Amino acid sequence: MYEITVIGGGPVGMFAAFYAGLRSADVLLIESLSELGGQPFNLYPAKVLYDIAGYPAINGTELTAKLIEQSAHFEPTIQTATTVTQIETVEGGYRLTSDQGDFLTKTVIIATGGGAFLPRKLAVDYDERMDGHQVNYFVRDLENYRDLDVAIAGGGDSAIDWALTLAPIAKSVHLIHRRNEFRALESSVATLNASTVVQHTPFLINAIQPEGPLVTLNLKEVRGDANVELTVDKLLVNYGFMSDNKQLKQWDLTLDRNLIAVDSQMQTSRAGIYAIGDAVNYPGKLQLIASGFGEAPTAVNDALSYLYPDRRAALHSSQLYH
Ligand SMILES: Cc1cc2nc3c(=O)[nH]c(=O)nc-3n(C[C@H](O)[C@H](O)[C@H](O)COP(=O)(O)OP(=O)(O)OC[C@H]3O[C@@H](n4cnc5c(N)ncnc54)[C@H](O)[C@@H]3O)c2cc1C
Repeated sequence: MYEITVIGGGPVGMFAAFYAGLRSADVLLIESLSELGGQPFNLYPAKVLYDIAGYPAINGTELTAKLIEQSAHFEPTIQTATTVTQIETVEGGYRLTSDQGDFLTKTVIIATGGGAFLPRKLAVDYDERMDGHQVNYFVRDLENYRDLDVAIAGGGDSAIDWALTLAPIAKSVHLIHRRNEFRALESSVATLNASTVVQHTPFLINAIQPEGPLVTLNLKEVRGDANVELTVDKLLVNYGFMSDNKQLKQWDLTLDRNLIAVDSQMQTSRAGIYAIGDAVNYPGKLQLIASGFGEAPTAVNDALSYLYPDRRAALHSSQLYH
């Protein structure tokens, strides 16, 4: 029986597994995808993050590599390509049921983020054989965009981040958004307005047609009659992601806005089961990696106090590291 099992190998789950190792716990880390990394690795590997403490700038892939290196230090058991489906209370702990068999654990830390993620698709009918070619929902490699004409659909932080990231690499970048205002950080919008990115607002994509290796977009003005034809090499759709966390509903936990409700110790409504990162909600919760990193030690320390109420441990890593 493991002392702590972390469900979810995103940034927050990986850091929790490291921290549990630092506290000498016997740890299992379970991840449903075949690779550790969560959102930064899968959804925005090339995007640069500026709000990770200690790193002035680091992209999703680099952050994942650093977290894998750090979490491996105390050699937790890592089980990838395994999805936990049930958490059943048993004598002395929990039985986790998964598609790869059962695991026994004394405590659980849920770090499942928003669950399995899927991109929101274009709202128009189009030939989906263009997906991964002319039409893209993820950027795997910036080099695939070098010297190309690129259109980006969307008006949130992610769409603007991609527009600004691709502007110096692509031949041209067009940003298409249905409103005149962007839902993004003021500083990003100011940088966008000063950049070479061509803004098409308020426009919707009305139709898209393959044009050999290119794609032609028909843009229609929202509440207006203007139509624009735009032919580009690639369309990057950034309408956000839908996450599927229906599994949470079967785990008999109190939810808050479809996320796991936790107290200030990151304790859920079931004793010995903690939750951290994007999977949780509490007053003032921010869905940021920095916030999740802070929640991980709180959960691990409380889980160990729950298991061993008399054990006292040093708080600082220099006293624990070996
Ligand atoms: C486009 C974009 C840009 C962002 N930019 C920033 C930024 O600049 N700065 C910032 O701080 N944050 C940013 N974020 C948010 C940040 O990525 C999240 O806050 C962070 O990833 C949350 O980490 P997590 O470990 O809680 O969850 P996730 O990263 O979602 O990882 C959860 C993991 O759990 C796994 N999992 C889910 N269910 C199960 C199950 N049942 N069994 C086993 N495994 C399971 C998933 O496969 C996944 O790997 C951004 C997010 C997006 C989408």
